[in-house]
Order: sequence, then C-alpha cells, then structure tokens
Amino acid sequence: MDKNSCPKIYGVLGYPARHSLSPAMHNAAFGALKINAEYRIFEKTPGELGNFLCSLSKENICGLNVTVPYKEKVIPLLNKVSAEAKLIGAVNTIRSSDKGLEGFNTDGEGFLRHLTEDLRFNPQDKVIAVIGAGGAARAVSVFLSKAEPKTITIHDIDRTKAETLVSHLRANFKDIEIKMADSIAGLNILDSDLLVNATPIGMKEDAPLLVDEKFIHRGLLVYDLIYNPAETKLLKTAKQKGAMVSNGLGMLLYQGARSFELWTGEKAPIAIMRQALNEGVKKL
Ligand code: NAP
Repeated sequence: MDKNSCPKIYGVLGYPARHSLSPAMHNAAFGALKINAEYRIFEKTPGELGNFLCSLSKENICGLNVTVPYKEKVIPLLNKVSAEAKLIGAVNTIRSSDKGLEGFNTDGEGFLRHLTEDLRFNPQDKVIAVIGAGGAARAVSVFLSKAEPKTITIHDIDRTKAETLVSHLRANFKDIEIKMADSIAGLNILDSDLLVNATPIGMKEDAPLLVDEKFIHRGLLVYDLIYNPAETKLLKTAKQKGAMVSNGLGMLLYQGARSFELWTGEKAPIAIMRQALNEGVKKL
C-alpha cells in the first residue's frame, strides 16, 4: 500500500508503559481535524531504544512524546535539538521527517500557558517556590525564569539535584534571584505568590502532606503538577486554607497541544483535546 494512504503514526515512548491520557487527547484532535493519523503507546526497553528511534521513518512514525525514563537519554540519538530543549536538558517531543529526528520540549511552555492564560497568573516580579528539581521542575523553572519573576527558590530532598538546577538557572538568568532551600520551611512559602509541586509526592493515597498547612495562605496559588488524583492532599489542604489551587491537567493539555502543532503544522483543537482529557481523567 502507498505509504501516504496509511495513517501517520504518533505515540508516547516510555518504559514501563503506563496508563496515559495522551492517546485519547491526540486521537480526538486527529479525528476533529480529519487527519489520517493515530496515536499509540510505545513501550521500549533501554536496550531497544536506539533501534526503535532508527526505525521511525520505516514504520511511518512521524512523531513521539517522550516520557520517563527517556527524556534525557534520547538527546544524543537525535539529529537536532531545539534551543529550549537544550536549556531544559530534556526532550519530550520528537518530530521525524526528511530532516531527520528533531527534539523539542513542550512541558515548560505548556505549564506557562496554563498558568498565564487559564489561571491568569503573571509570574513577572512574583516570589515563587518550587519543590523538586527533576525533569519537570527543570522545564517549569526555566519557563518561569523567562517570565522574569522576582525570585525562585528551589527545594529537593536530593540536595545535589537542587544545587545543579539552581546553578544552571543562575548561569542562564542573571537578572533573577535564584535561591536554594534545604527544607520546605526554607522555601519561605508565607512570602510567596506561587508554590509549585514538581515531585511525585501526592500521587499515592497514603502519601504524606508535602507542605505543613501553617505555610499556606490566601495570597498563594498552589500548582501541583500531578493530575491523578485530581486533588492531592496538598491541593485539598490549600483549598481549605483559602489559597488558589490547580492540578497539572492544564499543563498536560497545553504541552500536548504544542506537540500536536509541531507534528501536524495545524492549530491544535484545544476545546476537543480538553474535553478528551476531562473524559479520560474520569476513567482513571
Ligand atoms: P523526577 O524527575 O523523579 O523528579 C522529582 C524530584 O522530586 C526528584 O528530584 C525527587 O528526588 C524529588 N522529590 C521526591 N520527593 C520529594 C520531597 N518529599 N521533597 C522534595 N523533593 C522530593 O520526576 P518528574 O519527571 O520531574 O515529575 C515530577 C512530577 O510531575 C510527577 O508527578 C509527574 O507525573 C509530574 N508531571 C506532570 C506533567 C504534566 O503535564 N502535568 C508533566 C511532567 C511531569 P529523588 O529523585 O531523590 O526522589
């Protein structure tokens, strides 16, 4: 069969395969725009990664989202990496075309778009606290730094990781005060406008409350990158204390929308994708 008449294949690459809302979101978008394409889950072991990426063109796979544990590992296997993905140090989107394999990172952009457009929070001149210094925290803190906040303070239980992220941000954003905190108390949340949880703490039902409620106040927006459960203990407590709250579903939506646009060149049908996510999340 002519390759052009076959559906173009997209998907999420990770290991182990996890339940993902991305197939529902992207397949709804392809359907709405009548694009002959389908989005799948690709579970590949570390040993299979290199061969899989080499086979994309042959298999008619035109784009991938990349998730745990490959966001950093794919970088040396790509032909080109965007300046943003280089700055973040991770790739979450691959485009495969006659130009070869190109890597992008849409996580930070997705977070910032949700924060500014939907939640109407402008980070400029704000005091920001971030818990976590892993991949998601890197994407979020780079994009927050681009928006010129007053300060960003970062805490991670792995002190070395926090130090590395803080040095990286200081080197790239010289006009912003970037601080490291040794503990949650050291984050100075009482003086902050925005608190971001970029750790997985809160995904499990028996997870401890990450931040003591005495630090939460009415002037604070608490943004938890977790979207399953929709309301973590942190968000529940913050809501009870009168803070504004958001989970990470909006970030997932907008990072996916940007990936979709990079792959198809079409404007992402946000309302359709949002609806697919909202329906998908009810089934989790
Ligand atoms: P990651 O690379 O594992 O980073 C998490 C970091 O948090 C690690 O450095 C970890 O340290 C640290 N940490 C764990 N427990 C902590 C605690 N109690 N206090 C302070 N730091 C702690 O994970 P990730 O890929 O960045 O993802 C983080 C979260 O964001 C996950 O829940 C993920 O699902 C979510 N996420 C959401 C979206 C979205 O679209 N909404 C996108 C990406 C990620 P150790 O390594 O020492 O444990």
